[in-house]
Amino acid sequence: MPDLIRHPFPQRQHGLRIKSGVTIERGNFTFITVNKACFAIRRARHHLSCMEKTLPPVGKLWLVGAGPGDPDLLTLRAARLLASADLVVHDGLVGAGVLALIPPHVTRISVAKQRSRHTMKQELINDLLVRETLAGKQVVRLKGGDPFIFGRGGEELDAARQAGVTCEVVPGITAAAGCAAQAGLPLTHREDASAVSFVAGQCKDLSDQDWSGLAGHGRTLVIYMGIATATAIADKLIADGVSPDLPVAVIERGTTADARVLRTLLTDLGDLVAREAVKSPALIIVGKVAARADALDCLGAPGVAEKLGNFA
Ligand code: SAH
Repeated sequence: MPDLIRHPFPQRQHGLRIKSGVTIERGNFTFITVNKACFAIRRARHHLSCMEKTLPPVGKLWLVGAGPGDPDLLTLRAARLLASADLVVHDGLVGAGVLALIPPHVTRISVAKQRSRHTMKQELINDLLVRETLAGKQVVRLKGGDPFIFGRGGEELDAARQAGVTCEVVPGITAAAGCAAQAGLPLTHREDASAVSFVAGQCKDLSDQDWSGLAGHGRTLVIYMGIATATAIADKLIADGVSPDLPVAVIERGTTADARVLRTLLTDLGDLVAREAVKSPALIIVGKVAARADALDCLGAPGVAEKLGNFA
């Protein structure tokens, strides 16, 4: 609440005659008369607004999902923010089509990461986002898929909160949803799967992860970042009791023009990835629903083709 300032023309302002002991709101003025003195709150507000003009602009951070690759899968809000940002900080998963939507005058910083090599440590990314936002910029942190699905969006939001930075999250289509849609692979289906789980396959020690119950009858398991460990993943699932004959789809660069959708059985997963030289980014989808995908059947071992046919 601003301080009251004694008004130089007591009891008369804007053609108003103000009686003693009343408070009157008129436009931007609040007149309060006490005995014969008139106080105007508006003058104090005016001083405040002058001060505001000299304050630096207030920055804001947006954690924005860029979707799985196809720029048409960007949300309208994400597209609007890219056009109005001062700075876009993006990772390597964001495709060229989406980056092309950033106007040339907007500053861009790539903080692309690779599996075993970070071009910029997460703490440094957090510091960068906080510093630039506190400097008054509209900062868009653009992340592949959805910021909160294996995107470290939670860590960046924590850092923003701790620094007192205003932050808003804009969801994106996560790879599982985007890639499955393109492949005509329903992640759930009343006949085949009533549950779906997303897991990260790049964990340092896969054997420490408890995936029991995530794959198998009536369930779909979607594995992100699992290409480098595909053989270990298949072994682990089979050791946990999942049928080696369960269909598996591998979707590489989903939703982009050069996407590949390959299919085999769980027992053949590691070999398929090696044979076909599947590269990241790619998803592994394990479950009966994989048999429904528009996929290229890539069967290595003799007899696998007939088994896959049984699921179709
Ligand atoms: N936040 C992202 C996931 C980041 S983890 C999201 O919500 O989608 C990175 C992993 O996502 C990749 O290793 C890959 O497994 C998967 N991925 C991302 N984009 C993909 C794409 N276009 N096709 C296949 N997999 C993709």
